Amino acid sequence: MFLQKLSLVNFRNLGNQQLNFKNKINVFFGDNAQGKTNLLEAIYLIASGKSFRTRIDHELIKWGQSECRLQAQAGFLDIEVKIRQTDKELLINSQKSRVTELIGSFIAILFTPTDIEIISGSPDRRRKFLDQIGAVLDKKYLVDIIQLSKVLKNRNQLLWQLKNGKKIDLEVWNRQLVEIGSRVWVFRRALIDKLNIELKTLGKKLTDNSLEVIYEPALKFQDIRDLKKDYSEKLTSLGREEVSRGITLISPQRDDFRIISEELLNEKIISKDLAIYGSRGEQRSAALALKLSEVSLIEKEKNESPVLLLDEVLSELDKRHKELLFKEIKRVQVFITTTSMDNLTTERVGPIEKFQVIDGNIISS
Ligand code: ATP
Ligand code: MG
Repeated sequence: MFLQKLSLVNFRNLGNQQLNFKNKINVFFGDNAQGKTNLLEAIYLIASGKSFRTRIDHELIKWGQSECRLQAQAGFLDIEVKIRQTDKELLINSQKSRVTELIGSFIAILFTPTDIEIISGSPDRRRKFLDQIGAVLDKKYLVDIIQLSKVLKNRNQLLWQLKNGKKIDLEVWNRQLVEIGSRVWVFRRALIDKLNIELKTLGKKLTDNSLEVIYEPALKFQDIRDLKKDYSEKLTSLGREEVSRGITLISPQRDDFRIISEELLNEKIISKDLAIYGSRGEQRSAALALKLSEVSLIEKEKNESPVLLLDEVLSELDKRHKELLFKEIKRVQVFITTTSMDNLTTERVGPIEKFQVIDGNIISS
């Protein structure tokens, strides 16, 4: 996958910009608050239909303007996004399309210093990490997770009404929850198995230890038939408690997984849960290993490389990790933001194309 062109009109502070990319490594450099991250945000939006900074689309329109437009060319794909105060329009090869159709066609993966939260943050952050990979790999999964959150929202509202004495039959919602929830659990388990294969090699390279993601869904299962039966029974047995608390007590939306590092201590192998015991540096390296596992899994499954967006990650890494990162990503197209080119000139990273960002204007140099 290769982004050849990006045109922007009134996106954040960027005004009117036309960029052509020929190289694999592209660097957006400049002082603080010039528009570097805004550029990455624009590329991310082209790939996923949404920003990584806000859910409110009209925040992306340049202040004082009524709309913004983004257009990109990547291989045979022409993607156009128009955002107005109240709506958003997406065109893929000039055809009006939905965001669900876009996901997985042009894939961009964002690396930021906040990736450390995949390890140290809340379960919700870990589920998002996993769901994003799943969505890119399988559209059916994307549809399932969207449906799942709708079903849970409705079911929780009804449980709340039941708690307050209304008479409602939950049967239809239970059936839907069992169907979709079971598929999500099965998919996530298989996805983590595949991710662990990549993590095995990358974890060793980046942390010197073996890393593994341990998934512990609320229900243990052999296959989906078992699971559906168990889930259905569990919902029945939890019925009274769910009504008294007014909320769904068992679903994939309560999933979590742990990231374990296997280390040698006094000639014994110990398993260290990095969320609890990892140092900041260990957590950061493990997060990087997980993100790179995401990249290589997507490459394997889609037979194509995603584009990588590196927002200020270089300044966080030591020399060794920087070198490892560049070695791992040399086959893919990357866009890097940095305030200082020192981060890059010291590394032998191959041909770089530099773009200086000054107050929303971009100067190719
Ligand atoms: P840093 O090095 O601090 O991360 P940056 O170059 O990445 O800086 P950006 O996050 O790209 O900076 O933001 C550049 C500027 O764009 C900021 O001053 C921000 O306030 C401004 N900005 C954000 N949204 C809009 C908008 N809708 N219209 C105009 N300007 C905006
Ligand atoms: Mg920035």
